Amino acid sequence: AILKSIVEAQLLRVLVLGGDGYLGWPTALHLSDRGHETAVLDNFARRRYDEELGVQSLVAIEDLDVRAAAWKEVSGKEIPVFTGDLLDADFVYDVLRDFAPDAVVHFAEQRAAPYSMIDREHAVYTQHNNVVGTLNLLFAIAETNPDIHLVKLGTMGEYGTPNIDIEEGWLDVEHNGRKDRVLYPKRPGSFYHLSKVHDSHNMEFACRVWGLRATDLNQGVVYGQRTPQTALDPRLATRFDYDAVFGTVLNRFVIQAVLGLPLTVYGTGGQTRGLIDIRDTVECIRLAVENPAETGEFRVFNQMTESMSVKEIAELVAEHFPGPVQIEHLDNPRVEKPEHYYNVKHTGLIELGLKPHLLSDTLIESMFPVVEENKHRVEPDKMLPRVNWTRAKN
Ligand code: NAD
Repeated sequence: AILKSIVEAQLLRVLVLGGDGYLGWPTALHLSDRGHETAVLDNFARRRYDEELGVQSLVAIEDLDVRAAAWKEVSGKEIPVFTGDLLDADFVYDVLRDFAPDAVVHFAEQRAAPYSMIDREHAVYTQHNNVVGTLNLLFAIAETNPDIHLVKLGTMGEYGTPNIDIEEGWLDVEHNGRKDRVLYPKRPGSFYHLSKVHDSHNMEFACRVWGLRATDLNQGVVYGQRTPQTALDPRLATRFDYDAVFGTVLNRFVIQAVLGLPLTVYGTGGQTRGLIDIRDTVECIRLAVENPAETGEFRVFNQMTESMSVKEIAELVAEHFPGPVQIEHLDNPRVEKPEHYYNVKHTGLIELGLKPHLLSDTLIESMFPVVEENKHRVEPDKMLPRVNWTRAKN
């Protein structure tokens, strides 16, 4: 316990990649608030997808420079901003040399499954952006300072829905009388989720052969929009996506409820997924950063706090909303098992000290006023799914 508090007290230099995004920005604030010297990097790809898809965040968000200046005003702390692309290897090397981080938190990927399934171009873009960006980062860490702890966002979707318990990254197997510990077999459901599987393999390899240290966080579906830091000033708000491409399921249901639109459940809604509150996301990252993996270790945590089926999520929103709510079942545009076994081990982060906000005792009602205030910005037709998994399209 004494050792743990010494590590916790140690202030680190942390670079947050994708620091302009839904989770990257609140994470940077949380780490900065905690006293870590925090910088952010982004190429603003996410803002360009908004233009491409003709959508916008439900809550208006400021430019990254304005956000960083507002944080300085509110907290007195600087968050330096590096603008550039992880696909530009020279830029990645330069930033690592310039900022000299102890830890790099990597959120900077294209993260929507439907976006990666639009057509060939979007699938190729997603895998190129994600896999090559992470490879550039692994090489830059190995060459500039192999001691840097890489904290990388993966997804629970890497595992898919196997008919056996999901372990934290690794599986002990006995085969023909011999035993080994192997990476847990993955069966993901989109080209986006596959990009994360490829990243995991590249990272495990870099740890094994170069002795890097990495934590892969297989995160569940995130909900919520406010953290203690983003709530301090409207200029610190993070994005809140509601459209069928980028809107995560609980967030989208809350918005549909407030607008008086039916909650759109795909298929029977029996698909079960791991979930996590945005306040727990930022806390998990802090815990991973402050308790680094060992040299040469590829450490995996399942960053989720509870499992629920899509139907249960819809019922929960309907139950808490102070008005009538309709639930509509649409043909599922995705290819996924409608009903399945789902039992996930997720004890690693709890052991490091995570105290989860569970949906059963979290006031999802607190999300309703945020939506109410911004509902004039919603374009309801953007909530209907248009990307279909079964059609391969050039
Ligand atoms: P987001 O799209 O809001 O943020 C990602 C940020 O990375 C964006 O600001 C984007 O501009 C930036 N980026 C993308 N490619 C880049 C590149 N090549 N160079 C520099 N910057 C680049 O996504 P988010 O919801 O904040 O998710 C962050 C991470 O967490 C992603 O890796 C995602 O896969 C993972 N994750 C998210 C969820 C969720 O529910 N939101 C769930 C599981 C895992």
